[in-house]
Amino acid sequence: MKAVVLEKPGKLVIKDKDMPVCSDGEMLVKVRACNICRTDLKCATMGQRDLVYPRVLGHEIAGEIIAKGKGANGRVGSRVSIHPGISCGVCDYCKSGQDNLCDQIKIMGFNFDGGFQEVIKIDKQAIQSKIVNLIKNDTLAYEEISFIEPLACCVNIQDRLQLNKKAVLVIIGGGRLGLLNLFVAKAEGIQNVILIEANDERRNRGKALGFDAVFSGDEPDLLDQLKRCSDGHGVDGVIPCCPGPEAFDLALEILRKKGTLGYFSGLTRNDDFQLDINRIHYKEITVVGSYGCSVKHSQKAKTLLESRKIDVRPLISHRIKLEELEQGMDYIRNGDGYSTIVVMK
Ligand SMILES: [Zn+2]
Ligand SMILES: [Zn+2]
Repeated sequence: MKAVVLEKPGKLVIKDKDMPVCSDGEMLVKVRACNICRTDLKCATMGQRDLVYPRVLGHEIAGEIIAKGKGANGRVGSRVSIHPGISCGVCDYCKSGQDNLCDQIKIMGFNFDGGFQEVIKIDKQAIQSKIVNLIKNDTLAYEEISFIEPLACCVNIQDRLQLNKKAVLVIIGGGRLGLLNLFVAKAEGIQNVILIEANDERRNRGKALGFDAVFSGDEPDLLDQLKRCSDGHGVDGVIPCCPGPEAFDLALEILRKKGTLGYFSGLTRNDDFQLDINRIHYKEITVVGSYGCSVKHSQKAKTLLESRKIDVRPLISHRIKLEELEQGMDYIRNGDGYSTIVVMK
């Protein structure tokens, strides 16, 4: 079977791998779609702290069960989404449903091979940690199912923010994760979700897909305008969905006193940029972090898609073959479209 292997940062090679053998308690999943994440691009070009080479990347996986050993749950032919984290199941974090924080966690595409290959073996421990989730809506395409993981990461940060329906939420950055955060907020009934995005086209698209107001971020009276959007109340929550420290700084600037910042993806380094974090102190801002998603978040994201409360189809920009992964990485690097998905027959 075919796999795209990262041999070292900067070197992706297409290889023939032996078909895995399915023993008792295990199952084989044929990958049908794997969404490319910015993390995959980062790993492919610069490496990552948990990464051991050679490695098959890809952690946003939709597939079909093609074999199962004695004692494994599930039915051959079932359509599934794969949660990428395999946790220990016995630590305090695991026992309280926060398995994404498990110290022993192993992540698909980092600690073991992920979705940019034709078939994945799911072992006993992985099945026990409930990483295989059956899809209960036959009309959902595999490429849609491959959005469950990034959607679950948005469910996590919004869980942490705990905004009420009347809250004003600002999302900085109108790319894939900005829009997925919009969809989650709207599914939760948040009435006022505002986008700040410098790119005209993304701003217009954001408006069309449901943002209540959009700004470029350059408006000299941005703070006043945001106040007017919220009847003078101000911004309750901000989620920066772009990597630079500028967005983090802007978030601290536009939040109202007692507002909450959702810190959802790591910052890229920029030594020339001075963040004014004293505003956390002066304005009594709460900063909440989130890291990936738990099995529970994945299940909630799956339900949001199955019920069609969330429709991710407008975000599908490029479908590529496994052999075209390098090209796909270029789409991500250049910000071409919203999402690029490896699709396999
Ligand atoms: Zn991802
Ligand atoms: Zn654990």
